[in-house]
Amino acid sequence: MRRKLVAGNWKMHGNHRANAELLAGIIGVRPFGCDVAVCVPYPYLSETAVALAGSDLRWGAQDCSAHEPGAYTGEVSAAMLAEFGCRYVIVGHSERRQYHAETDQLVADKAKAALACGITPIVCVGETLAQREAGQTEAVVKRQLSAVIHALGHCAGEMVVAYEPVWAIGTGRVATPDQAQSVHALLRAQLGAATAHAGDMKILYGGSMKPDNAASLLSQPDIDGGLIGGASLKAADFAAICRAAG
Ligand code: PEP
Repeated sequence: MRRKLVAGNWKMHGNHRANAELLAGIIGVRPFGCDVAVCVPYPYLSETAVALAGSDLRWGAQDCSAHEPGAYTGEVSAAMLAEFGCRYVIVGHSERRQYHAETDQLVADKAKAALACGITPIVCVGETLAQREAGQTEAVVKRQLSAVIHALGHCAGEMVVAYEPVWAIGTGRVATPDQAQSVHALLRAQLGAATAHAGDMKILYGGSMKPDNAASLLSQPDIDGGLIGGASLKAADFAAICRAAG
C-alpha cells in the first residue's frame, strides 16, 4: 500500500506573520497518517525550516534551476535548495510552463538537477481545457511525462508525478474522481514501461482539491495524494485534506 503525500503549493503568497500562523496551525493538529509537505517561496525556506524542525512535516520549493551553480542571474540551484533542507521541489507547474515558456525538456532537466542533489522532484503534467476538449489529454500528459522519464533514466522511479489538469487549477472546477483516476492509471502504466518501481511511485492529483472533494479523489486506486494550491493557505482546510489522505 502506497503511503499518501499531501503537498501544499503556496505559490507567490505569504509574509512572515501569515506563514508563522499557517505553519503553527498545521503543526498543532498533526499527525495526519500521511506524508505532508509545504512548498514555499524561496525567501521563506529558512523560516519554514526553523518552524518545522523536529516535526514530521517536510518542506520544499516551487522551482529550481536546471543549471549547475554559475553565472545565471536570478536562478536558484537545486544544490542551494538542498542546503535549506528541501525534501521536494515542484517542477513543470503549468503556471511555469504557461508564463515562463518552460518546455518539456527544461522541466526534465530541472527534475534531473533536483534528483542529483537528493531532492525529490514533484513533476507536474496536465492538459489545458482546449486539449481535453480536442481529445488530446492522453497524448499531452504522455508527452510531458516521457521527456522526464527519458532524462531521468534508471532514476525515473524516484520522482513524484502530479497530474494537474490546467482547467482545474485555481478555478474551483475539479476533475471528477473517474476523470482523474483514468489519467492516473495511464500515467502509472507509462511509468511501468520505464521502471520496475511504478507500483511504489506516488502520483498526486492537483486542481481545486478542497476538504469537501478530497476524500472521493483520494479513494481512487491510483491517486496517491494531492498537490494543493489555494486550500494550502488555510490551516484548517489543508489539515482536513491531510486527514482525508491519512
Ligand atoms: C496548484 O497550484 O498546484 C493547484 C493545484 O492549485 P489549486 O489547488 O488552487 O487549484
